[in-house]
Amino acid sequence: MSVIDLRSDTVTRPGPAMRRVMAEAEVGDDVFRDDPTVDRLEAMVAEMLGKEGALFVASGTQSNLCALLTHCGRADEYIVGQQAHTYLYEGGGGAALGGIQPQPINLEEDGTLDLEKVEGLIKPDDYHYARTRLLCLENTTNGRVLPAGYPEEARALVDRRGLSLHLDGARLFNAAVKSGRSGAELAAPFDSVSICLSKGLGGPVGSVLAGKAGFIKAARRWRKVLGGGMRQAGLLAAAGIYVLENHIERLAEDHAHALRLAEGLAAIGGCEVDPGAVQTNMVYVGLPADRLDALIEHLAGQGILVYKGNPMRFVTHLDISSEDIDRTVAAMGAGLE
Ligand SMILES: *Cc1c(COP(=O)(O)O)cnc(C)c1O
Repeated sequence: MSVIDLRSDTVTRPGPAMRRVMAEAEVGDDVFRDDPTVDRLEAMVAEMLGKEGALFVASGTQSNLCALLTHCGRADEYIVGQQAHTYLYEGGGGAALGGIQPQPINLEEDGTLDLEKVEGLIKPDDYHYARTRLLCLENTTNGRVLPAGYPEEARALVDRRGLSLHLDGARLFNAAVKSGRSGAELAAPFDSVSICLSKGLGGPVGSVLAGKAGFIKAARRWRKVLGGGMRQAGLLAAAGIYVLENHIERLAEDHAHALRLAEGLAAIGGCEVDPGAVQTNMVYVGLPADRLDALIEHLAGQGILVYKGNPMRFVTHLDISSEDIDRTVAAMGAGLE
């Protein structure tokens, strides 16, 4: 029985073609700037996102942290979603390593931050306060694409108030495929953008941070400070190039699978799910609390892995087929009978 792993889109494993380009990659010492494959990946991402430069980093966490440390100094502040990955799931790195104060604010239903509330939280120029330097957004956020026009409104606000604007675009290409807009269009309003190669794109390791040339130069220094200077990293960058060339358009399949899953589950008593709310590769399903543990055990018995949570998050990806979706719907139905 094959395992169906719906816990995250990080669980994909490199196939033979990807492993081949990794094995054959031309490499050098990237700390000496001698790795042509890393250079090629960085140039490729800079171009795709319409930025002057890019930096290959070990993870999305390291990418966002490099961005925070580059935009903000000690006792500076950044405004960020209370439920945003950068604030909630990155170990407080900005505070621990940069002395940067977060100002979290609740996300609205659509994944945006209310810009009036954001503006009200920008601190006055007075030594009682931290200096507000940066606004940080996420796209997609909980599988939802930021509404068209919203990043441009955020840009207008930060320009008016002298802040910078960072995007945690771990799943930016899911947003691009869903909205029919290019990565560069979605990245345009932002000073810096982080993308993950190891989420839906299906790469094994790594993220890329993009921005202006001077920003990337400073971020490269921070990456070294963080212990992220990697030597023959072209082995990993080759996989990154491979997924950017081969796995962007196919994200539409993951989105279709997520919708199929939501529609299947919506017909099952006990599953609370709105297929209309599914935009990309995530489905959130409310379940009867008293049956959660038994359901997870039942699914595990069928070779289906899910995170314990209510609503439960299901994530589709490269290694999930439409048969896997049908098997999951059937197992959920049996588990909730
Ligand atoms: C996964 C993720 C990150 C961090 O990436 P890692 O490579 O796991 O460190 C950042 N932001 C978002 C929205 C993510 O989903």
